[in-house]
Amino acid sequence: MQVTKDIKETVCIPYYKPIYREIEVFEHAYSQKLPILLKGPTGTGKSRFVEFMANKLDKNLNTISCHEETSSTDLIGRYIIKGAETVWLDGPLTLAVKTGAILYLDEVAEARPDVIVAIHSLTDHRRELFIDKLGITIKAHPDFMLVASFNPGYQKGFKELKPSTRQRFVAISFEYPTEKTEVEILTNETSILTADAKKLVQIATKIRNLTELGLTETVSTRLLVDAAKLIVSGLPKRLATHVAIVEPLSDEIEITTALKDLCDLMI
Ligand code: ADP
Repeated sequence: MQVTKDIKETVCIPYYKPIYREIEVFEHAYSQKLPILLKGPTGTGKSRFVEFMANKLDKNLNTISCHEETSSTDLIGRYIIKGAETVWLDGPLTLAVKTGAILYLDEVAEARPDVIVAIHSLTDHRRELFIDKLGITIKAHPDFMLVASFNPGYQKGFKELKPSTRQRFVAISFEYPTEKTEVEILTNETSILTADAKKLVQIATKIRNLTELGLTETVSTRLLVDAAKLIVSGLPKRLATHVAIVEPLSDEIEITTALKDLCDLMI
């Protein structure tokens, strides 16, 4: 039995390397039934962290990747036609509220404003959800938790979250890890050699410091993991850095040429 359990755990627990004291903060927020906002650029481990925490707390996780068309109906539910009948279908938010799951609204600021309105009463002491189409209010299951992520709008092209919304959450900042931690993430996520992982991380650090390029987003850990995977699968290292690190960052030919030269020099 023990063997089966060990195998199950090895297969299921997502790998997550803590950057700060986020595990501790999450556990306390969960016990106090406080919603959490994860702030930070794309690819810094926010989604992986939520998966890890759901697993650690042994809770189901419902993830919604918000985009500009995401509405409260998508979250709460809708009537659907089934044969000759019209039946109500709970959305992922309602299901999580009823069953006590963790609901993760990834990139919440991208969603339509009615989504923010819908979650308001769940983010304060009331912890209840109003379903206007059914005319009912439901109390959240004691285990329900709301987690949202948000990419702060310090650069062009990102939507902001209103202070009145932000102040309903306990917030944790996600940044790029230290070089040592990032090397560890790459060697854990892929079987890349430590020496190659170090070079990828050095490239990332260099590009992250080139603020004068005015990139909307800079090199994320996700891009480095992708480059490492391509290298492990046998793609020449330079080509791997070009396609996994440089090309996703910019479409401007002068910038991509300069960054490719930099990668060629460093790997
Ligand atoms: P985000 O949700 O912030 O956009 P993700 O959680 O999807 O980012 O992270 C992208 C990838 O980067 C993950 O799939 C994982 O491979 C890697 N990663 C980033 N940070 C970490 C971390 N702290 N521990 C483990 N893997 C990480």
